[in-house]
Amino acid sequence: MSHEPADQAPSTLAVTAGRPVRTQGSPVNPPLVLSSTYVSTGVPGPGELLYARAGTETWQPFEEALAALEGSTRPGLVFGSGMAAIAAAFSLIPVGGRLVMPRHSYQVTLAFAHELAERSGVDVVLVDIDDTPAVLAAVAAAPTSMLWVESPTNPMLEVADLPALIAGAHAEGALVAVDNTFATPLGQQPLSMGADLVVHSVTKYLAGHSDVVLGAALADDAELHGRLLAHRTLHGAIAGPFEVWLALRGLRTLALRVERSQATAAELARRLAEHPDVLEVRHPSLPSDPGHERAARLMNGFGSIIGVRPRGGSDAADTVTRAVRLWAPATSLGGVESTLERRRRFATESLTVPEDLLRLSVGIEDVEDVWRDLDQALRAAHAAPAASAEALADEVAGA
Ligand SMILES: *Cc1c(COP(=O)(O)O)cnc(C)c1O
Repeated sequence: MSHEPADQAPSTLAVTAGRPVRTQGSPVNPPLVLSSTYVSTGVPGPGELLYARAGTETWQPFEEALAALEGSTRPGLVFGSGMAAIAAAFSLIPVGGRLVMPRHSYQVTLAFAHELAERSGVDVVLVDIDDTPAVLAAVAAAPTSMLWVESPTNPMLEVADLPALIAGAHAEGALVAVDNTFATPLGQQPLSMGADLVVHSVTKYLAGHSDVVLGAALADDAELHGRLLAHRTLHGAIAGPFEVWLALRGLRTLALRVERSQATAAELARRLAEHPDVLEVRHPSLPSDPGHERAARLMNGFGSIIGVRPRGGSDAADTVTRAVRLWAPATSLGGVESTLERRRRFATESLTVPEDLLRLSVGIEDVEDVWRDLDQALRAAHAAPAASAEALADEVAGA
């Protein structure tokens, strides 16, 4: 693979990293190789490809590109899903260890932590991740194996003071792991700030087209990297080559997608804050948002997830999800298409997330088109908060 100049901007690295070495007639893109095994005789050399559970030449370019973007000296490790990458990170917590994590972590990560508590006696302590003194007090209260950070959080969009948390947790001997899915490496590079581990749901922004489920974990430290790699190979939660090839293809346009969706999200947040049918808007771009000052100081951009509470409670919120036509009412996020959902429809979502909170993932469509659709859906919800799905669909279709 080509060597990447360290002085390239992240948006350039997204395009240049993980390319084949240039020789006459060589492909510009890494090939998709479908082979479970590799020709090999004798004692395998270090890094030699042997068997596709341990590594493939289709993973390597993606893993290199991820490392370049996250500022890691070691390749990233691709996994079959974000949760598989999180499982590898959680495997670093010993039986009977202690895990401090955000109250508003991704709900499946929370469920996983609760399983660790039951199965492995891990003491799981939930904190408000934007309250730095409270987080550090929780870490210091007893020997802590790992501080888990999501920032901004899913779906509440709290912003953590990453450098302060990393320094404070390290002073107490805790590992710091950051789920960087929401911010993307273009928004923040936790390893460069001193974090020990970074994980991603590649499913979201990195792949970016809602057509693959993939994850990744990165560690700069040789021992941690080795343990994550060993976990992947032993547990076998690996990615298929085709999904990884698609993810690298998606990664090439990461900067353009993130730039566009962030700009649209900030404009939508500004308009939503003035909308008569909206009770509350959460987006770190808004000067009134609790996370604004910190995000402006620590992050590059404010992200493209918005929290909205329409007037009329959870009925109105449900009505919005049925009244939209351009926005896809669907879970997940970070795709080119705008999606939205009411998070508390899931019984497992944290009870401190408001019942009526809609999570919006802003895509790359024209800002006026996404605004018009959202505006008509909010008005429809206000006019008929308790309307049945069918009646409303008819009404909207005829409008
Ligand atoms: C989606 C998501 C995950 C889980 O990733 P999968 O690829 O769905 O397994 C983890 N963390 C965050 C913040 C997510 O949004």
